[in-house]
Amino acid sequence: MNQADTERIQRELFTAGHSSADTLQDATAVVVNGCAIRENADRKVWGMLGMLKGLKKNKPHLVVGLTGCTVHADAIELEPHLQPVDVTFDTLNAEPLLSTLARTAPADSDLYEDVEAHRDTAVGSPCRFVNAIYGCDKRCTYCIVPFRRGAQRSRPINEIVQEICQLRDAGARDITLLGQIVNAYGEDMGGKSLPDLLEDVDLIDGIERIRFTTAHPRYMTQQLAEAIRDIPSVCEEINLPVQAGHDVTLKRMARGYSVGFYRETIDMLRSVVPNIALTTDVIVGFCGETRDHFEGSLDLIRDLRFDQVHVAAFSKRHGTIADEWEDDVPAEEKMRRLHEVERYQTEIAEDINRQYVGSTADVLLEEFVPSKAAINEPRWRGRTRANKLVFLPDTEGLVPGKIIPVHIVSATPWSLRGSATVATTAPR
Ligand code: SF4
Repeated sequence: MNQADTERIQRELFTAGHSSADTLQDATAVVVNGCAIRENADRKVWGMLGMLKGLKKNKPHLVVGLTGCTVHADAIELEPHLQPVDVTFDTLNAEPLLSTLARTAPADSDLYEDVEAHRDTAVGSPCRFVNAIYGCDKRCTYCIVPFRRGAQRSRPINEIVQEICQLRDAGARDITLLGQIVNAYGEDMGGKSLPDLLEDVDLIDGIERIRFTTAHPRYMTQQLAEAIRDIPSVCEEINLPVQAGHDVTLKRMARGYSVGFYRETIDMLRSVVPNIALTTDVIVGFCGETRDHFEGSLDLIRDLRFDQVHVAAFSKRHGTIADEWEDDVPAEEKMRRLHEVERYQTEIAEDINRQYVGSTADVLLEEFVPSKAAINEPRWRGRTRANKLVFLPDTEGLVPGKIIPVHIVSATPWSLRGSATVATTAPR
């Protein structure tokens, strides 16, 4: 159970653009998923927290998150050990951790390279990640990835297909192809592109759903939009980071597109795939971002109505181009902007999710979550093709990896609730 919780938290972090560090010394954040059931396991947690307390003396900005049943243990007993802990959260809701990281350790946008190192720990999960392309040739001024991960390198299609077949044999049904710019796939090889790769993965028996992340607006072609529409197992959802809603900021970020270009790209996507679910990433408080520039981001979020916006306050990364520039937006103002985006987006996401209530969606079951102290009844957790998180009560015959129609009965900005049904219509 602990393992499954860890994988889920890991997935949420990867989805938000964070990556694994090679060593504890390299990490900007550490998450301890503690177990209070066995004394020995419990002691390990305290030992780990003691070690992290020491590490924080040299790395004061290190974020330490604590989750798992340790968090529900006696608070008085916990208190002396909690000193290095910045955030505690329930394993089912990583939002407090993600918000803390957004404030203190913003994601490297699309940094997934080390997912491979964790593949062995995710055995049996129906949802798996596979690297399609490594590195990045761009030079976004806030980003360290090109300096750390090297040039863009696509993996040969046959190697990717082979790996997915192995994962399928171990229970995978939903595959996410990863890359810093996954839709540049093939550019460095010549002759092949992401739609070609998607077509080949679609032919693998037993793989029901294919996703890809992260996409770059400049590589979002009509051909790729048509592939999303036409290839049966490719899901109708995409993360297309805009990062800022004003041309001055985009230029300083060296993103290589304008707000107008981004808006046209979204129009194109929606005209080809009308029911597509869209998410984006936004950085607030970048060097030189005025209130007027920031309003551009709010306008864009308001107009384009994303299903989700991953927002982060800008913080300098050593070794990036922007590291040389003046970080001139005060921390309090960055947080104000971050909360403004969150407020806007929460309303939009709730409104979008409410439209699912009363409909039936095909949900791929990920795992059964047993009852724990301080949370609701035991329930299943799964996702729609649009990547909407769905919770439903247990019913006979449900197993991880199964796709079932679910009648949606309620919605929050972050998830849907429903019950297993035999109805046949699915919004997306
Ligand atoms: Fe970083 Fe930009 Fe490359 Fe993404 S596209 S990895 S943000 S340099």
